[in-house]
Amino acid sequence: MSRAIQAVRGMNDLLPDSVGLWQHAERCAAEVLQAYGYREIRLPLLEKTDLYVRSIGQVTDIVEKEMYTFEDRNGESLSLRPEGTAGCVRAGIENGLLHNQIQRLWYAGAMFRHERPQRGRYRQFHQIGVEAFGMPAPELDAELILMGARLWRKLGLHGVSLQLNSLGTPACRADYRKLLVDYLEGQRAALDEDSLRRLESNPLRILDSKNPALQGMIERAPSLLDHLDAESAAHFGRLRSLLDDAGLAYKVNPRLVRGLDYYTRTVFEWVSGDLGAQATVCAGGRYDGLVEQLGGRPTPAAGFALGMERLVELLAQRGSQPHGGRPWLYMVLIGEPAQRRGVLLAERLRDDGITVECDAVGGSLKSQMRRADRSGAAYAALIGDAELSAGLVSLKSLRSEEAQEQVPDDRLTQVLRQKLAC
Ligand code: ATP
Ligand code: MG
Repeated sequence: MSRAIQAVRGMNDLLPDSVGLWQHAERCAAEVLQAYGYREIRLPLLEKTDLYVRSIGQVTDIVEKEMYTFEDRNGESLSLRPEGTAGCVRAGIENGLLHNQIQRLWYAGAMFRHERPQRGRYRQFHQIGVEAFGMPAPELDAELILMGARLWRKLGLHGVSLQLNSLGTPACRADYRKLLVDYLEGQRAALDEDSLRRLESNPLRILDSKNPALQGMIERAPSLLDHLDAESAAHFGRLRSLLDDAGLAYKVNPRLVRGLDYYTRTVFEWVSGDLGAQATVCAGGRYDGLVEQLGGRPTPAAGFALGMERLVELLAQRGSQPHGGRPWLYMVLIGEPAQRRGVLLAERLRDDGITVECDAVGGSLKSQMRRADRSGAAYAALIGDAELSAGLVSLKSLRSEEAQEQVPDDRLTQVLRQKLAC
């Protein structure tokens, strides 16, 4: 036997046992997004490399060292998408969705970054991304944030907290950048290698450093919030009061800068204490300049991206297991007449929304019960000659000591719904 081929490092198979939780999260997210009028858009996995260089920024971690970039057979440089916003904006401009219009869009799918794989950080990972175009007011920023909060509630996640900051406009950021560089130049001896490199290229990112040795120095750095232009300060104030009115708690974190260059004004992160070092489950903000930067007409925009692996990890920790895609019921059918009856009854139950797996192998009661157990179903419905002539099934719990009971065929949906609270 030759050696088996293995998956690419950092790229995971999602096996059937875990897919149920993913589907549950995806369904809940789609419902919440729909409730706010967001519509799904589906976008290519590959884009021209230049799209990411122009949007994310040449000196960001993503473009500098994380992209899967290659030349295709025509010698054109393409990249697997490391995030969804750039592609969404590109599609919006190209298809005439943005100019003088309001668009509320979302997408879901795989993203690719060549990072060091570790808990919560993979090379192929999945995001649900949300982008809203044509709305400059802080009401839209508040909507995006409240939508996130609603999703956590719907999923029963209580430990996810909101961090908020404003980056102002590019102009006021440029002024602040000078102040920051002056301060950091004075601290040169305390900077690590990464920060020294960023001091030239992207000094604001130093504020985002996770190196514990730098934290004191970062704490004492001048704060961008103290240097906002008047309009950005008013925008931020209004957003805060909208969130206060909605009773949503948040923490203003003046060090929150985000990894991508294109943000303006509001930035936010949803953070959980239960994810170890990779604590941010969802991140976003406003990017009013990006559409124009990518060749469209000036269009205000804001959005966020939710990391599905991190979200699913939180759900798994909570023990939410929405039956993991397993059937509610397994039909054990003894003898040919019972098999015929069972197939039709299963069809009727599925019409009622009950998930059913029918034994299609046959054989003894014992062997069918063994398969019923392995299927992961909650209950088995047994039909043999006696049940057949009485128009009943024998309903047996596969997961608890509950007594077996006889249920008339036409009451099976109702009884199962009661038992499974669905
Ligand atoms: P981080 O600081 O964790 O590297 P980021 O700022 O690079 O995050 P974004 O580009 O804002 O992340 O992506 C939004 C979300 O997507 C993150 O908050 C996270 O939940 C998720 N995410 C980003 N990179 C990865 C990855 N390599 N593996 C798994 N999830 C990821
Ligand atoms: Mg990153």
